[in-house]
Amino acid sequence: MTASHYAPDTLERADTWRGDALCRPDRLRAEKISPDIWYAEKTDLVTRREALSICERCPVRAKCEEDSLAREGKASAKSRYGIRGGRTEWQRYTEYRRRAQRVKDAESAKSA
Ligand code: SF4
Repeated sequence: MTASHYAPDTLERADTWRGDALCRPDRLRAEKISPDIWYAEKTDLVTRREALSICERCPVRAKCEEDSLAREGKASAKSRYGIRGGRTEWQRYTEYRRRAQRVKDAESAKSA
């Protein structure tokens, strides 16, 4: 048997939280909710609020938000797409910028 270069199977996969997501396809089908509501036009506030209200009740909202922020990284607000982790594209963009600024401030304080 050869040694694996990957993490052992006993470790939790980074995305196992997705199994508890309220936007999981089988849950949406059961409740007759379209997954498209997470990708509604920015001007369609009613539909976007519907997606946001589901995210608000989602047990994995925080993990989803962290995952989105990590995946999107420095992306501009315009290049972000859809509702994720209970936040709009603009909210995720400003949260990323806020955190980046906090890290920068902490580094400046250390070197001062
Ligand atoms: S927070 Fe929203 S987008 Fe994220 S997994 Fe839950 S329902 Fe889906």
